[in-house]
Amino acid sequence: MQRKKIKVKGIVQGVGFRPFVYRRAHDLSLSGYVRNTTDGVDIEVQGSSDRVARFIRELRLEKPPAARIDNVTAETVPVRNEKSFDIKVSGQSQGITQISPDIATCTDCLAEMYDSCDRRYHFPFINCTNCGPRYSIIQMTPYDRQRTSMRCFAMCSDCEHEFKSVFDRRFHAQPDCCSVCGPVFELRTIDKKKVRNVESIAETARLLKRGKIIAIRGIGGFHIACDATNSQAVRRLRELKHRPTKPFAIMAAAKDINTIAFMNRDEEKILAAPVAPILLLTKKKSVICEEVAPNNPYLGIMVPYAPVHYLLLNHIPFLVMTSANIQDEPIVKEDEEVIEKLGTIVSHYLTHNRGIENRCDDSIGFYLDGKGFSILRRSRGYVPVPVGLPRDVVPTLAVGPYLKNTFTLAHKRDAYMSPHIGDLDNLETLTFFNEMIAKYERWFRIKPELIVHDLHPDYLSTKIAQDMPGKKVAVQHHMAHIVSCLGEHQVYDDAIGIAFDGTGYGTDGKIWGAEFFIGNLGQQKRVAHLEYLPLPGGEASIRKPYRIALAYLYKLLGRKSLPRVQGRSRRTVSQRETQMLVGLVQKEHNIVYTSSMGRLFDCIASLVGLVQEITYEAEAAINLEYIAARGVRKSYPYQITETEPLVIKVHDLIERVVDDIVHGVESSTISAKFHNTVATFSLDVAKKLSKMCGVKKVCLSGGVFQNRYLLNLMIDTFENDGFTVYVHRTLPTNDGCISYGQTIMGNAISGK
Ligand code: ZN
Ligand code: ZN
Ligand code: FE
Repeated sequence: MQRKKIKVKGIVQGVGFRPFVYRRAHDLSLSGYVRNTTDGVDIEVQGSSDRVARFIRELRLEKPPAARIDNVTAETVPVRNEKSFDIKVSGQSQGITQISPDIATCTDCLAEMYDSCDRRYHFPFINCTNCGPRYSIIQMTPYDRQRTSMRCFAMCSDCEHEFKSVFDRRFHAQPDCCSVCGPVFELRTIDKKKVRNVESIAETARLLKRGKIIAIRGIGGFHIACDATNSQAVRRLRELKHRPTKPFAIMAAAKDINTIAFMNRDEEKILAAPVAPILLLTKKKSVICEEVAPNNPYLGIMVPYAPVHYLLLNHIPFLVMTSANIQDEPIVKEDEEVIEKLGTIVSHYLTHNRGIENRCDDSIGFYLDGKGFSILRRSRGYVPVPVGLPRDVVPTLAVGPYLKNTFTLAHKRDAYMSPHIGDLDNLETLTFFNEMIAKYERWFRIKPELIVHDLHPDYLSTKIAQDMPGKKVAVQHHMAHIVSCLGEHQVYDDAIGIAFDGTGYGTDGKIWGAEFFIGNLGQQKRVAHLEYLPLPGGEASIRKPYRIALAYLYKLLGRKSLPRVQGRSRRTVSQRETQMLVGLVQKEHNIVYTSSMGRLFDCIASLVGLVQEITYEAEAAINLEYIAARGVRKSYPYQITETEPLVIKVHDLIERVVDDIVHGVESSTISAKFHNTVATFSLDVAKKLSKMCGVKKVCLSGGVFQNRYLLNLMIDTFENDGFTVYVHRTLPTNDGCISYGQTIMGNAISGK
């Protein structure tokens, strides 16, 4: 006879973990109890020692699908006189702070939904302890029905019975409901009229098939949907949304994906997981119309993750499902917002009366063969589960960057990262940002003592931070990038950090973006960078890559080089504009200097005539990646200065690109050679640094590493040379990781 006290940490609340433990204990005839605690689940089991051992072993192996076990500890405690195994109710004093993310519909629920004899046949809100909404319906902690938007639906006796019986899959499933007692869907025209006497979901599908554009209320907000095989409909959506080329995501049943994209086993698993993110897959020639993702080798695909999605896809197999918002505002979640903001885009909206408390966009990622999953947007399915920190921190709020904002609220080893907030340059996003901070502080009971913000004095986030109570610390953007990657991998010693991205305010007041550091979680020293080149008219030129190309060309190669490349670009810059731009560079008037890698990509993309004006962030660079030829080994020359900080000079690189253009070399070859050059000079610099400091660890971060071609190449290049390479796994490599890095580094700085 033996008794063990077991502590389990991870996602173990609101996911059916206690009933699972109860059933296992029963099966093995063990006595004891299970209960939720503030940071996980406590279990005591008593029985023969081999059974107790088996129980502990099988906890991890047979856990409920939506649970995630991070840590199990077990200690022997004195045997007690008891017979039964109980689920103990946690006392009010032990406030439960963990909140589960939203979970895609499970296979058991699907089977019931498609069973014509089941009482939830075709019920669009079916869920259980293994699946369903969590984060998006919660108002307050601890998580129970009264503190969610399900509180206004009183359970019918059948549902209540399930809810109360330990052996039921819906035991303590807070959003449990059925067609008798639960919410309902309704189809309305954009002028609020209810479409009557129809089965609303089937009717929505019928209208979509006829080419209509419809807003559909889901888990974390509305999607705008249309038939992905109807080019007219997709083209109209693009016009109405003022979104000419940025790709749309698609929703399709798992069984249909093979007909529209290539998918390997690993990718299949990622799609089928409870998170159900949008995954970028290589496109096949198929029924999906080109307008969904023009000039793009990938399709962003997600599988249905809410019951309503399955019911829709029964009628229409391929849907464009794009976040319902205008430009960079937060995703729309209320009917009124649909009417007010999307009135000119959609003809109808399919809505329901289960409140969405917390907006949450779909998460996005891609899988790099042999190298694993990279996340690009970390939202639905992930938040608000804390990300582990490498060191204890004081109660901290890191307000994050300006673009693609997420903030982090942290204490001790837990970083509660917000969902994707958006670009902090409009009132709606700002309101969302403030609202979420207030909610996070309440839910997770953290009152920040330290506020960390970006170095840029003019960022809205900086200004907001400065008005908050508490100690303030500024952290440089690219240092935050590197530290977030080091923190994610718990690298404590020195590493070479390579941050390649678009924009970040440097400690010298210039715009950084291709930076090499040596440092650790606490301090970063900039030891090399790309040479400074002029941005005429400042950051406004980011929208017009031809201006960047012209300025770089003039600065590096002089006036005579300008006419040499005009032929290749579809857009010939007027004499007047050329004069104006040259004048700015010459007189150093209205110029900011940048070492940005993103701008170098823009320059090359413009030179080869790919993109002259962008309609979404990084469009030129993304297109340059997409055309890169495979199997090209050549690269361009460059120079690196000898003294610290080392500077990478690109005169020779640009000159040879121009030569190639003049000699009619294919743009795809030029792109590949350019990518190779970036990898080569990065290795070159890293080797010099490594010689100086003896460090063989390299850490890559920044938006440019969303470029799969470059990421793949850089990992191979560095590993072949004996470096250990760290890239983001848990967090996005883009600015979605900044607030996490700010948290770690801000604490280090303020602790000094
Ligand atoms: Zn389920
Ligand atoms: Zn019911
Ligand atoms: Fe960045």
